[in-house]
Amino acid sequence: MVMRYAEQPCPHCGAKLDATAGFEDDIEPRVGDVAICAACHGFLVWAYKQPEPGKELDESDLTQVKLTAREFNDLPGDVRADLLRAQAHLEEIKKQEALKGAKH
Ligand SMILES: [Zn+2]
Repeated sequence: MVMRYAEQPCPHCGAKLDATAGFEDDIEPRVGDVAICAACHGFLVWAYKQPEPGKELDESDLTQVKLTAREFNDLPGDVRADLLRAQAHLEEIKKQEALKGAKH
């Protein structure tokens, strides 16, 4: 399941992110939802931007920020396991692609 959203740069590496692969069927991003950058494999968490004065926050004010080590440790164990599994999966894909590239 992939959810598309307004393009935004990864807070880790600056890669343009415009889609998220969800771990569950419910993939609308909400504050506190975690994700992984497909480019640098950094952990991300959805959060509200700093609101502009006098403006109500809405869904378009959600943005992804770095997930700190402390926030990671505060996550439930199954969420941490999902993140680590997804990260390992991305590392594996990268390794496979590097091997493929080396053969040329
Ligand atoms: Zn990144």
